[in-house]
Amino acid sequence: MNTSDSSSADTRIGRTTRRQRHAVRLRRLEVLRTVYLTPSMRRVTLTGSELDGFTSPGFDDHVKMFFAGPGQATPILPTLGPDGLVFPRTGPQPLGRDLTPRRYDPIARELDIDLALLHDGPASRWAAGARPGDPAWVAGPRGSALVPFDFDGHLLIADETGLPALARRLEELPAGSRAIALIDVDGEEDEIPLVRPAGAVISWVHRHRDAGDHGAAMIAALRAIALPEGDCYAWIACESGLAKRLRSVLVDERGANRAWVRAHGYWRRGAVAVHDDFDE
Ligand SMILES: Cc1cc2nc3c(=O)[nH]c(=O)nc-3n(C[C@H](O)[C@H](O)[C@H](O)COP(=O)(O)OP(=O)(O)OC[C@H]3O[C@@H](n4cnc5c(N)ncnc54)[C@H](O)[C@@H]3O)c2cc1C
Repeated sequence: MNTSDSSSADTRIGRTTRRQRHAVRLRRLEVLRTVYLTPSMRRVTLTGSELDGFTSPGFDDHVKMFFAGPGQATPILPTLGPDGLVFPRTGPQPLGRDLTPRRYDPIARELDIDLALLHDGPASRWAAGARPGDPAWVAGPRGSALVPFDFDGHLLIADETGLPALARRLEELPAGSRAIALIDVDGEEDEIPLVRPAGAVISWVHRHRDAGDHGAAMIAALRAIALPEGDCYAWIACESGLAKRLRSVLVDERGANRAWVRAHGYWRRGAVAVHDDFDE
């Protein structure tokens, strides 16, 4: 694997998140198949010989996919320089969006990406129309965070955009892990089956109950939920403003250890291509 390890081996023991860097490649892949997981989420399985050497050891890794803009037959692409992707200095820019490698099978040469179809943007539009044989351009991941398993409990909070990473984490947690997941979706029809350690508690929160106050149902659910006892690692990925509020509820109201709370904005209302981190 084309990986340079900036830390010691991936033991995931102890409480320190280890970081790995990977040499960036820009791969031309193609759509193998698609399936609707729910009315609001489509899984696109990509394949191609350029997948060889792909690696994604961290549950919340991301790749950058490049999409064609309105009126473009093919995407504008960055080039690859010695330090990674190089974007044009002037003129039209590549339309890149961050997405989670949901599953990678090196033997079958398959990479699954689960895309939310909730809004009017290039990634969402591409996913809604993707057909077998369509080309797809994928760069990265350029790095991974290897979050230890060695906590008394794991709290995972996400909306549809964070759900692929959340689902990966639940699958990767060792048997016997105590895990709680709080997931924000529009309604019951947007829930998906999740492989998880026995005893993990999954709470689906339905956004249509927000009654105009975005995130109100998630905030109320987090205030009410019984948190795992002992040292708990909390991971949040959803709309940026809500991620910040949920982090504040956890740390300021629920007494969570701020060192073990990681809050990410995976998108922001009215903005494009956002990746916010609210860690301290
Ligand atoms: C590290 C990381 C990993 C991610 N992984 C995934 C993933 O696996 N699957 C996935 O679907 N998304 C994922 N996302 C989020 C994804 O990158 C954004 O949702 C992306 O901006 C959508 O691109 P778009 O081109 O469709 O819309 P954009 O052009 O980016 O946005 C168009 C409009 O839609 C709004 N918008 C964007 N996302 C949403 C949303 N979810 N709900 C409502 N409105 C929205 C924007 O505010 C904007 O007004 C991830 C983001 C990050 C940072």
